[in-house]
Amino acid sequence: MTPSTIVADTEERAALRHAVAKLVGKYGHDYFMQKAQAHEEPAELWKELGEAGFLGVHLSEEYGGGGGTMSDLAVVVEEASSQGVPLLMMVISPAICGSIIDKHGSPELKQRWLPGIADGTLKMAFAITEPDAGSNSHEITTTAHPDGDGWSLSGTKYWTSGIDEADAVLVVTRGPEPGPKGRHPLSLFVVPTDSPGLSWQHIPAALQQPEHQFTVFFDDVRVGPEALVGDEGSGLRHVFAGLNPERITAACISNGIARYALEKATTYARDRQVWTVPIGAHQGVAHPLAEAYIGTQLSRLMAFRAAELFDAGQDAAEASNIAKFAAADSSLRTLDQAMQTHGGNGMALEYGLADLWFVARMLKTAPVSREMVLNFVAQRSLGLPASY
Ligand SMILES: Cc1cc2nc3c(=O)[nH]c(=O)nc-3n(C[C@H](O)[C@H](O)[C@H](O)COP(=O)(O)OP(=O)(O)OC[C@H]3O[C@@H](n4cnc5c(N)ncnc54)[C@H](O)[C@@H]3O)c2cc1C
Repeated sequence: MTPSTIVADTEERAALRHAVAKLVGKYGHDYFMQKAQAHEEPAELWKELGEAGFLGVHLSEEYGGGGGTMSDLAVVVEEASSQGVPLLMMVISPAICGSIIDKHGSPELKQRWLPGIADGTLKMAFAITEPDAGSNSHEITTTAHPDGDGWSLSGTKYWTSGIDEADAVLVVTRGPEPGPKGRHPLSLFVVPTDSPGLSWQHIPAALQQPEHQFTVFFDDVRVGPEALVGDEGSGLRHVFAGLNPERITAACISNGIARYALEKATTYARDRQVWTVPIGAHQGVAHPLAEAYIGTQLSRLMAFRAAELFDAGQDAAEASNIAKFAAADSSLRTLDQAMQTHGGNGMALEYGLADLWFVARMLKTAPVSREMVLNFVAQRSLGLPASY
């Protein structure tokens, strides 16, 4: 897949785009699938991405990062995904966890985790979703009970991605007592995955990707003061530092899948001939692909606009939500059309499209569902009342 720009790249950003595409292209979609099927981490690729400075491109230089921007990380994630390598862990470890710790962590916490997240030697999972709270994070019940100079954490998270390959998990907890408005204040902790009392159970899922999902149990997991991110009780505010990066990079995964699928589809449509002309000459084949291209370019524009607003320190919430929504829908339509263009071969694993179906489909639901994005837009952008 050739690197392709959608906004006017600076010389540096164009170089970044080409370098990521070249590095990930060496591995490619077959490698991604081999790792997914063998239930193995893409360790060699992750190591190279880290060593090249791509995973921490947006993190502070002082803590081993590249001192760049969210737009840079967006380029990294999109280019990797456009090679048929949509790594969910890129969204979780560097984009969500790295961004939150960089913004709100103590100097000790930053020193402990950021250099490793940046160079790929450490990975961090993120656990907010719970079986009985789901989209409503205010209702989480995983609780941080004060215990000596630290806390003891108890509760259950689910759909936590990649905790089996992570060195730590950034967990969202609530305090034992409700605040004045009846809501329990939230706090964030970084918990090493070898902590006594922490365990997890695999959730078998349809997705074919190297990262797996787990139900995670915190059974009186003891953490010291060094594990707290920012201020106790300010977790909701701190989580926001990771939400826009999460939505922007999730959009980039979707947009990368769309670019990958379009390249496959157009190559096939130029080569395959069953009547007198290549199938791509039939408008019934060409127009849906042209429409998918338009949808992809619009989604990419929105993702980079959101990243630009984020980098400028402006309110990027609406743009990030819209970008994530648009990209998830348009990449699934594009992948579907790419499969249709391949006829029966669209279903054959050899053609490297069908195996991405559930990864693309998942992005309509995670990390934030399309309904919760529509709620955000209805309420915040249009001023409509909430039903809940
Ligand atoms: C592959 C995968 C990886 C994931 N990785 C992680 C991870 O690493 N860490 C983590 O914390 N979570 C992770 N998640 C969880 C994901 O973020 C949640 O699945 C998602 O936020 C929805 O929560 P839920 O599944 O509990 O659905 P629910 O909240 O139960 O919602 C079910 C349905 O109802 C809709 N709905 C709920 N409330 C409303 C409302 N008010 N208005 C309209 N519709 C509504 C939802 O949109 C959804 O369609 C992952 C999920 C998947 C599938």
